[in-house]
Amino acid sequence: MKIRAAVLEEFGQPLVVQELDLGEPRSGEVLVRLVACGVCHTDLYTASGVDPSGYAPCVLGHEGAGIVERVAGDVASLAPGDHVVTLFAPECGECVHCRSGRTNRCVAIRDQQGLGYLPDGTTRLSRGGEPMRHFMGTSTFAEYTVMPEIALARVSPEAPLEGCAPFACGLATGIGAVLYTAGVQPGSTCAVFGCGLVGLGAVIGARLAEADRIIAVDLSERRLESARHHGATDTRIAGDDVVDWIREETGGFGADYTFEATGSVHVMRQAVEAAREAWGLATMVGVAGKGETLDILPRLLITGRRVTGASFGGVKGRTQVPQLVDRWLAGEIDVDSLLSHRLTLDDVNRGFELMEAQDGIRSVIVFE
Ligand code: NAD
Ligand code: ZN
Ligand code: ZN
Repeated sequence: MKIRAAVLEEFGQPLVVQELDLGEPRSGEVLVRLVACGVCHTDLYTASGVDPSGYAPCVLGHEGAGIVERVAGDVASLAPGDHVVTLFAPECGECVHCRSGRTNRCVAIRDQQGLGYLPDGTTRLSRGGEPMRHFMGTSTFAEYTVMPEIALARVSPEAPLEGCAPFACGLATGIGAVLYTAGVQPGSTCAVFGCGLVGLGAVIGARLAEADRIIAVDLSERRLESARHHGATDTRIAGDDVVDWIREETGGFGADYTFEATGSVHVMRQAVEAAREAWGLATMVGVAGKGETLDILPRLLITGRRVTGASFGGVKGRTQVPQLVDRWLAGEIDVDSLLSHRLTLDDVNRGFELMEAQDGIRSVIVFE
């Protein structure tokens, strides 16, 4: 079939919206009609050319939500009409990592996905007979996409799909880092560095985990205001004094849990240093620049701090994304306030501009 999609033709250049061919779903695959797709940093990271594993041409986009249009004959867990969230981190339930129950690092299709292919090593996208590679296994800056069944989470049909899109990446990443990676205990103190969609997700997660104090740090007062709206109890403008301030505020010890959601290795270091002596856990969520390293004084570890990190917040997509969407429907998460701009596919580059200008929390492409 013919579809319209936003193609990364050349690194550092605007995406080009154009007509492409999309093949029928093969064994284990599903054709999804996209209804909404968030514009995330990782799309821009790849488009800019700084991502060392990036390639072009390809169709970007990974924060998608839509409706199943058709399934291959052997697909049993999804049917036409199902509402789905796209997963760049699949959950097969059968690989060594999925069976462990300890991680969301499913390895079932990882190698082919990283190269831009569907699990059978081919693409469904093409242009003039030439195959075109997929991106993150999702390629959701498009009217339709073909994805593996194991990379689609079926969510409640009552949830508006525009609001489901941020659960495909940024929002679920922040919430998941708190609930599933760190496993925040009720009554504890959390400190969140960076209050974009991911950091706000962490603030929301800390509230859902019944943390007693939720400290939010950002350079922008507007973002701190959003953090307070979503449950932060204390907010602070970022600066070199922030670690000392957090220690002072916590009886000289530091926070039980800290979360880094900016991608700066300087801030990552602050998150480690602000974690409590004896049992503080610092969780890295932001994506650092190529080749950058995190400096940690070993003494901080010997005295009991721990450091961890997560991709997609450790969320097991097929199992847990539907649960998070249900918590939104139950009124526990305010998603509407996170969706700042609604754009058409043709305006996808405007989504990048808004992100770079830090205008709003998330821009979402809405398909007609
Ligand atoms: P964003 O740009 O919207 O938000 C980042 C926030 O950090 C901004 O509000 C900014 O003001 C703030 N900030 C910048 N410097 C700061 C400082 N020194 N101290 C405190 N705050 C500071 O980004 P986002 O969409 O929320 O994503 C955050 C990070 O998470 C990015 O690095 C992104 O690539 C990463 N990310 C990771 C995953 C994953 O799976 N691990 C998924 C999605 C996004
Ligand atoms: Zn993302
Ligand atoms: Zn798996």
